[in-house]
Amino acid sequence: MTSRPEETNHNMDSEICILGAGPAGLMAAICAARERPGVTVVEASPSAGRKLLVTGGGRCNLTHDATIDEFVRAFGEAGRFLRHSLHEMSPTDVRTFFHDHGLLTTVEADGCVFPADGRAVDVREVLLTEAERAGVRLRCGSPAIGVALEENAFAVATARHVVRAKRLIVATGGVSWPQTGSTGDGYRFAAALGHTVVAPKAALVPLITQQKWPGSLAGVAVRDVRIYAKCSPRKIASVGAIVFTQDGLGGPAAQDISRLLADELADGRSDIGLCIDLLPQTPLPELDGQLQQRLSAHARKTISNVLAELVPRRLAATLCTLAGCDGETQAGQVSKETRRAIAALLKALPVNVTGTRPIAEATVTRGGVDRRQIDPKTMASKVCTGLYFAGELIDAEGPCGGYNLQMCFSTGALAGRSAARSLSNKSPSTA
Ligand SMILES: Cc1cc2nc3c(=O)[nH]c(=O)nc-3n(C[C@H](O)[C@H](O)[C@H](O)COP(=O)(O)OP(=O)(O)OC[C@H]3O[C@@H](n4cnc5c(N)ncnc54)[C@H](O)[C@@H]3O)c2cc1C
Repeated sequence: MTSRPEETNHNMDSEICILGAGPAGLMAAICAARERPGVTVVEASPSAGRKLLVTGGGRCNLTHDATIDEFVRAFGEAGRFLRHSLHEMSPTDVRTFFHDHGLLTTVEADGCVFPADGRAVDVREVLLTEAERAGVRLRCGSPAIGVALEENAFAVATARHVVRAKRLIVATGGVSWPQTGSTGDGYRFAAALGHTVVAPKAALVPLITQQKWPGSLAGVAVRDVRIYAKCSPRKIASVGAIVFTQDGLGGPAAQDISRLLADELADGRSDIGLCIDLLPQTPLPELDGQLQQRLSAHARKTISNVLAELVPRRLAATLCTLAGCDGETQAGQVSKETRRAIAALLKALPVNVTGTRPIAEATVTRGGVDRRQIDPKTMASKVCTGLYFAGELIDAEGPCGGYNLQMCFSTGALAGRSAARSLSNKSPSTA
């Protein structure tokens, strides 16, 4: 099911209304409805979880095989805020949730967790099936256009109806990939209800470089590199794959760097020096020695061909050019200086970052609803009783590797349960 039970056009009362049927909203709905009936989800798009379908290149990296402490560290400044929610639904709980509903998961060598069948659509299917089983009313194709706090309820206006609910969970996502429905409406609703919104910035987004040569390598991927910032007072580094793009660098390692440099880049710093260590396992002196051996062992091959044993062929040719030598030179003719220059480039290929691709192309949004105004033990608003937040809408984003979906599931589960439990309490002020 992509859009289950449709409703007729009429006003409707609910116990809990959730805005947004992404991973955070659906998990909130399931967890709330398992506690008490009367949960309605209002979704703008004609079908639920559209962004979920494109995650992990359609395979959905749904969490990471890491401890809660490791998750907390990975989220940096937001980590402490997320600790409680990560205990509410841990990475292990996420995997158990999907296993219990027939979706086996597998852990890859780098710790990323995917559905065993590699199909994001099955992750969405489990969420929708469980939401239906729990009795959630899902209204797709109904963008919320306004939210107001009336005497005893929130009134959520859509073009066709008004949903009145005692509790409201806003889970409308950030502003990246707006074509999947996340257009930033939740920021407007949060602000209308008294919240501060930290200016959204692109995070986990491809970098634009001053150098033009990456464009000639567009599409070439290199696995297991280390990227580090040359002159940052903070220690900024990431490891993983990169992919050269028309105007710079993409892939998880480059995107993680974009997140770590998001504030500098948003502040207009337009020349940040990075180095790419293409062979991080091998120290420079050892690498130079290996190169020397290879060049003499294959003296009649071209230098490009020798280097292609270490890095992708097209990159090998570019490295030769950057080192000032012709890639067609016979390996036996390469001077010591050139060999050393190539070894140095393999260990520290310099690029200058001048910016990032637009936020619409980012994997996640940095910024959003100020987490200082959200109770980390419940995800309840500290400024508006009965209001809750979940998912990417909150100012908390993690690195590539399943961290962000885990955050959505954890905050969604906590918000859903807290909202439902607050209704079981005698006093609404315990919301
Ligand atoms: C290409 C890509 C790949 C990614 N891959 C991964 C990955 O593999 N692993 C990972 O951890 N993270 C990944 N992410 C990040 C992850 O997808 C998001 O962080 C996550 O989807 C956010 O979930 P959410 O529920 O908070 O918001 P969303 O998934 O954006 O869902 C919000 C929902 O709210 C709805 N909505 C918005 N406004 C309104 C309104 N006014 N009324 C009603 N409904 C509204 C939207 O239509 C949408 O359905 C990826 C992101 C992208 C773009």
